[in-house]
Amino acid sequence: MLDLTNERTAWDRDHFFHPSTHMGMHARGESPTRVMAGGEGVRVRDITGKESIDAFAGLYCVNVGYGRQKIADAIAEQAKELAYYHAYVGHGTDASIRLAKMIIDRAPQGMSRVYFGLSGSDANETNIKLIWYYNNILGRPEKKKIISRWRGYHGSGVMTGSLTGLHVFHNAFDLPRAPILHTEAPYYFRRDDRSMSEEQFSQYCADRLEEMILAEGPETVAAFIGEPILGTGGIVPPPAGYWEKIQAVLKKYDVLLVADEVVTGFGRLGTMFGSDHYGIRPDLITIAKGLTSAYAPLSGVIVSDKVWQVLVQGSDELGPIGHGWTYSAHPICAAAGVANLELIDELGLVENAGSVGAYFRAGLADALAGHKHVGEVRGDGMLAAIEFVEDKDDRAFFDASRKVGPQVAAALLERGVIGRAMPQGDILGFAPPLCLTKEDADTVIAAAAGAVKSVLG
Ligand code: PMP
Repeated sequence: MLDLTNERTAWDRDHFFHPSTHMGMHARGESPTRVMAGGEGVRVRDITGKESIDAFAGLYCVNVGYGRQKIADAIAEQAKELAYYHAYVGHGTDASIRLAKMIIDRAPQGMSRVYFGLSGSDANETNIKLIWYYNNILGRPEKKKIISRWRGYHGSGVMTGSLTGLHVFHNAFDLPRAPILHTEAPYYFRRDDRSMSEEQFSQYCADRLEEMILAEGPETVAAFIGEPILGTGGIVPPPAGYWEKIQAVLKKYDVLLVADEVVTGFGRLGTMFGSDHYGIRPDLITIAKGLTSAYAPLSGVIVSDKVWQVLVQGSDELGPIGHGWTYSAHPICAAAGVANLELIDELGLVENAGSVGAYFRAGLADALAGHKHVGEVRGDGMLAAIEFVEDKDDRAFFDASRKVGPQVAAALLERGVIGRAMPQGDILGFAPPLCLTKEDADTVIAAAAGAVKSVLG
């Protein structure tokens, strides 16, 4: 019998250029190749038949879980009926129009229109262009700078990689590019002054932001972008009062707020949007991942009424907007989105993310309580992280060469559970599908405790 595993592994090493992968190690066969083959609920299976609980939902995107017939049927039906038509010059399909309506019905107050793309990165590119267009229409062409945060993640294109505040996405690519700036990360665990309360630290972050706006000149600062809860930067919930204080500064200097809800949109925090959860009133919202639960690639920018009114006013002067993708509002992806949002409602997954998420995080914290190398167990909704430290008192990092995070993730995988070693620091992240049950949560918790013990004692 043909050994597919060996054959696929050889083809993979010789021909497949993987994203976010060590190229040399992979090509030389020094890092693992895992060929995924199937999935059902929270479980995935590889080509050898090995099954794992996917406690990161792919890349925090398979929110409804794997193998959902309803979405597969919707995709197949749309492909048969009309696989493609573009959305330029006022064209649409039933699926794309219905989906736009469903998104606005679910979005925070004051939202008006959805511009569709395919990835979180391209949606944030759209955001940047809309922000610049907006200020050009308002007759303030110098108001163009965009402030992001260290440890924020907003994509890996040229401008969106610049928005991202993680060194690995900048080094060796000559990023960030102007006019992108980075301010303090709301990372309470890693604050310099440990005497600060959460509220004081939030004020400190807001003060740093205000200083930056004043130093640059408020007339040059167009927008601030942030994830409601830092994701790829370490799964770090905002400290108490953070969003209220940040929004007060933005309002004072007429700076637009973009909430990047690529991870938090459609239920992950136990509310439909993270903005609802933390009292954020954004001018623009980025969505992707959970919009289709990754059954097909689809993203969007939700534009508030405030921004839309200006864009419309500009169009009478400037004509059709010179911005579009061939695959904007692709009908197959839109059909997946409609079925996915219906399924989220039918299965009560937003509520499940809140209740089982809280159960999961509490269990994880209990299982690791008192461990001398666990600096913090944190998270919100169906998002959790364990941060490892060499020394608990001074929160010292382990030497990076020890690769503690990746080692614990590998030990977790040996125990049948996929977590994610986050890219900066020794942080093990969890973002299970929103359909996680308490029984599965118990399995993940036990595997995590076992993995930590096996690596760190
Ligand atoms: N924004 C956030 C908050 C994200 O987490 C991601 C992806 N992890 C992106 C944007 C970029 O999305 P994509 O990888 O689809 O381009």
